[in-house]
Amino acid sequence: MTFDTDGLVIKAQNTGEQDRLVTLLTRKYGVIRAFANGARNPKNRNASATGMLCYADFTITKTAKGICIIKESTAKDVFFSLRSDIIRLSLAQYFAELASELAPREEEADEFLSLLLNAVYLVSDSKKPLGLIKAATELRLLSLSGYMPSLVGCAACGTFETPEMRFCPMTGKLYCSDCVPQEASVPVPASVVHAMRHICLTDPGKMFSFRLSDDNLLLLVDLSERYLHAMTGKRFATLQFYKTMTR
Ligand SMILES: [Zn+2]
Repeated sequence: MTFDTDGLVIKAQNTGEQDRLVTLLTRKYGVIRAFANGARNPKNRNASATGMLCYADFTITKTAKGICIIKESTAKDVFFSLRSDIIRLSLAQYFAELASELAPREEEADEFLSLLLNAVYLVSDSKKPLGLIKAATELRLLSLSGYMPSLVGCAACGTFETPEMRFCPMTGKLYCSDCVPQEASVPVPASVVHAMRHICLTDPGKMFSFRLSDDNLLLLVDLSERYLHAMTGKRFATLQFYKTMTR
């Protein structure tokens, strides 16, 4: 069968003499792997659209054995400004690795693709703090994947909010100032609770629109990363690289 979909290249590997094997986050079929024959030849018609972190329209044929082959592609955005900034590029590559871990396979992934495109666009072309984009992308991706933290109120008594609450990065649970969690927890001011609720629950188009003080943003970044690690059980190589770059 042959199908059309737009998608973002989240992994590109060299194979054969001049071929590429790419992993795509597609709108219609989630994460798929596809061969682009000859695409490492700059004159090949699929050369530009099959590079790492290119967003493109693809026409893909799936063989009887289930192998996907890219027939046609039209690049829509190559996020050119990313390519000259190693820190921004490494953060975008981390998002790509996260998506390959968390996005569905062979099923519709409209929200995942829209989130990834927004995140990569902001990383390449905005003045927002990278920590804000990183934490928001992590928490929203986790939420889309079924790992939304329990932010509606205190996990013990249900209280919606106290000026300071406690968040448990291992479980994603929130506690008010009167309840003591059994598990390890971190005190969080209401502004950070608001930011986490905003990220996970607001309209996709508004999820990056919030502000925090520098200290609270650092706290959000730390909590988000610890929660992500607890939920996925993974150490992402691209994250380690990004952190080495920003240390
Ligand atoms: Zn409580």
